[in-house]
Amino acid sequence: MEDVRTCPYCAEEIRAAATRCPHCRSRVTAFDPERWYRDHPERRVAGVAAAVARALALPVGAVRVGFIVLTFVHLLGPLLYGALWLLIPFRPGGDAPIMRALACGRDVLDSVLGERRRETPNGSRPERHNGGETEPPAAGVLPLRRLSS
Ligand SMILES: [Zn+2]
Repeated sequence: MEDVRTCPYCAEEIRAAATRCPHCRSRVTAFDPERWYRDHPERRVAGVAAAVARALALPVGAVRVGFIVLTFVHLLGPLLYGALWLLIPFRPGGDAPIMRALACGRDVLDSVLGERRRETPNGSRPERHNGGETEPPAAGVLPLRRLSS
């Protein structure tokens, strides 16, 4: 039992999971979020081109050429590649690197803010907590010690 649907271009019955109609060769999916991850077998670098190719049902070679061509247009290729790398999860259903980075950054921020809240109860100044060790010594003490050593 297969799920079928109708091709919007030629009205032939096609499989629901098809990305291209076998009858009229039309692309019948614009974007497939199920394939929006980087761990495809054809990945070479970080899998961004493979993810884009799978999700958009494009040949991975064409996507790679696209990135290379965009490199000569104001270095858009690497910028786009980097941006997509941040946005595409490595495994299906996984978190994108930028989500992990944001979660990590929030943890760091929380601990820093928590630390600061603990250090300054009632608004006392945290730089005075070392007990005045940096106070200059009484007059006469330091010069004597320097002479004896
Ligand atoms: Zn068709």
